[in-house]
Amino acid sequence: MGISGGKDSAALAIYLRDKHPELDIEYYFSDTGKELDETYELISNLENYLGKTITRLEAAPDSPEDSFDHFVKVYGGYLPSSSARWCTKKLKLEPFEQFVGNDPVVSYVGIRGDEDREGYISRKPNIQSIFPFRRNIWSEDVIQKVLQADALPRLSSHYRELSDPAQHSRLLPLVDAPLSRGFSQTQKLNALLDADVRLFNRVVFAFLRDTAYPLAQAAEFSLLDNDENLVRADIFHLLRKSGVGVPAYYEKITFEVDGKKGEYARSRSGCFFCFFQQKIEWVWLYEQHPKKFALAQAYEKDGYTWMEESLNDLIKPERIRRIKLDALAKQQKNSFSTSAYLLDVLDDEEEVGCASCFI
Ligand code: SF4
Repeated sequence: MGISGGKDSAALAIYLRDKHPELDIEYYFSDTGKELDETYELISNLENYLGKTITRLEAAPDSPEDSFDHFVKVYGGYLPSSSARWCTKKLKLEPFEQFVGNDPVVSYVGIRGDEDREGYISRKPNIQSIFPFRRNIWSEDVIQKVLQADALPRLSSHYRELSDPAQHSRLLPLVDAPLSRGFSQTQKLNALLDADVRLFNRVVFAFLRDTAYPLAQAAEFSLLDNDENLVRADIFHLLRKSGVGVPAYYEKITFEVDGKKGEYARSRSGCFFCFFQQKIEWVWLYEQHPKKFALAQAYEKDGYTWMEESLNDLIKPERIRRIKLDALAKQQKNSFSTSAYLLDVLDDEEEVGCASCFI
């Protein structure tokens, strides 16, 4: 399990330790050397809770510099961006794939039940992603294989074999229904999960037997009985209840602009200069962690910038005022939110970015 330093992977580690202590999980953290201090603190708290060491993976272990700085030099000062994201590849994915080698591996990923994204972790065939927080624990590629038209006879035969005959009249018409314009893969998946999540998991597990997926080699898999769906409020609850705690950067801080009050915070883990952060998060960094902001600014000295506007421009007083007013307007729009934990202003952006860095 990859521990990103974010709340969701930390909560997943807690959840699996408590609910599935029989799973033999190795934990790793791909360290860019550029996280906020709170991230390193979270990782140390988590190690205490798990009673296990979280292996630090470094992309450039022989370099005298942090991995990120090493690769910035390799790339001639060219900073990563959302369209040229060399950092995720070099600092997160490659070290992970090297760590795993050719062993068959199940990689547990903390994408929640209230998120609509697929966490790309690796395309190596010996690495299979599983999503324990979702009702559908399987990755998109597995679902496609199981529900594709050619696989229908096998799907049907596994269902016949594994289900109670008393369920057949209710289940089999659904199982045997082909995909069509009016019955998409997602609709069929949801209908099968609605009918019986555990049975669906057993069918998929049986289906995988004849494939090269790592789980084909497992005699059993305790997550087949998992039918929970955890959402954001559950994650915060797990972190607080365990004593591991929520990283301080998620806590809202009040700011004032034009006599009005708003709140800001950071929405996720990752490098302090991450280009995925929103403007208001840059302002938060400038005001709450000025030394880190100055370090981020220093990377822009060669003319490359983290985003379309430079950090020097972003901290001009009128620009900060405008960013705060925009954030305030967004917060007011979202003020009908139902969760006490939502960082409302950051909501829309939480799913942007990469699974390796922020989950
Ligand atoms: S947190 Fe952002 S800057 Fe750091 S490796 Fe991930 S995508 Fe790149």
